[in-house]
Amino acid sequence: MKKKIFALLLTTMLTVSSLAGCGSSSSDGTKGANGTLKVGTNAAFPPFEYVGDDGNPDGFDIALINAIGEKLNMDVQVQDMEFESLCTSIGNKIDVAIAGMTITEERLNTVDFSDSYYEAVQAVLVPKGSTIATADDLKNLKIGAQLGTTGEFIASDIEGATVSAYNKAVDAVNDLNNGRLDCVIVDKNPAEVFGSQFSDKLDVIDGTAFDFEPEFYAIALPKGNTDLATKINDALKELKNDGTYDSLVKKYIEE
Ligand code: GLN
Repeated sequence: MKKKIFALLLTTMLTVSSLAGCGSSSSDGTKGANGTLKVGTNAAFPPFEYVGDDGNPDGFDIALINAIGEKLNMDVQVQDMEFESLCTSIGNKIDVAIAGMTITEERLNTVDFSDSYYEAVQAVLVPKGSTIATADDLKNLKIGAQLGTTGEFIASDIEGATVSAYNKAVDAVNDLNNGRLDCVIVDKNPAEVFGSQFSDKLDVIDGTAFDFEPEFYAIALPKGNTDLATKINDALKELKNDGTYDSLVKKYIEE
């Protein structure tokens, strides 16, 4: 699985970037002149997406897709839904999905991906003082993960592991705190957020200690819509070049 994610990333990046032509995606039209971009997310994955103080989805991904919408002169309408149903909702309920979603071979059967906008890795949350330290230590454990995520796929590949999958990663974290699990596998940045929320109970171990491969987040797009892919990739490039991307990383991820 790990190897597959990596190999496929290279092909995807090559394919998708070859689709991104030249020409700017921004124009001088009024905001929203190019219609509405319906975006799906799962607002339970801080710092990329969470429910903000006003009850609406907020986070790095939400700010990024709003900035992309501005470049495209499109209104952005974000819908919070189950992570599992994001890919299958593209083309009906939503146009695209942004949800800290890793490019995987399986997902490419249903959707296309934009250029990757963030490199991540899985991490392991363990009870404070745990002796879990290497890949071998994960064997035969009770492992929690979020349903339908790469954390769940990796956990399922571990020898002898009993995997429990939850709709929200935080529910797995709660079961870890209650002693029902030995550890939780979840993406590194959310793991750090949960780790600091429960700093008296949990430690976070970076997945490189377990030889987990890097993963690459991208926006999930309707299959075959190269026009939209080009526009979104061009907007992403502009946001990287004009410093917006870096300021969002500082604001949401590094602060
Ligand atoms: N990066 C993981 C995946 O794509 C988890 C994403 C999430 O839970 N929002 O499967």
